[in-house]
Amino acid sequence: MDIKEIYKKRKEILNGHKNELYALAGMINTDDAAVFSVREKICNECPLKINNTCNTGMWIHPTTMETRNSSKEGFIRGCGCRLSAKQKSRYSKCPAGFWGGEFDAK
Ligand code: SF4
Repeated sequence: MDIKEIYKKRKEILNGHKNELYALAGMINTDDAAVFSVREKICNECPLKINNTCNTGMWIHPTTMETRNSSKEGFIRGCGCRLSAKQKSRYSKCPAGFWGGEFDAK
């Protein structure tokens, strides 16, 4: 992720890191924790996950789950985020649409 992306996403990044610390301290709301846990499970099954990162060197087709090492129409590139923090940001969304928006106003 380059510096412009980090600036644009600073609110998401800060919220994710703050909630990661709250979770470690056992201070997170149980409803939020349930959402974050589902997000973690989804990422754990995703072929773009490499260790704790969403791999920017891979693209995924959100419907077929096919992966590639280069761009192609209909494929979504990994975001490069550190997943343990991103999953705990209420404002973040998976770039492929697998999770996110759970806290949007209904
Ligand atoms: S954020 Fe989305 S694309 Fe990235 S590893 Fe998680 S589920 Fe996969």
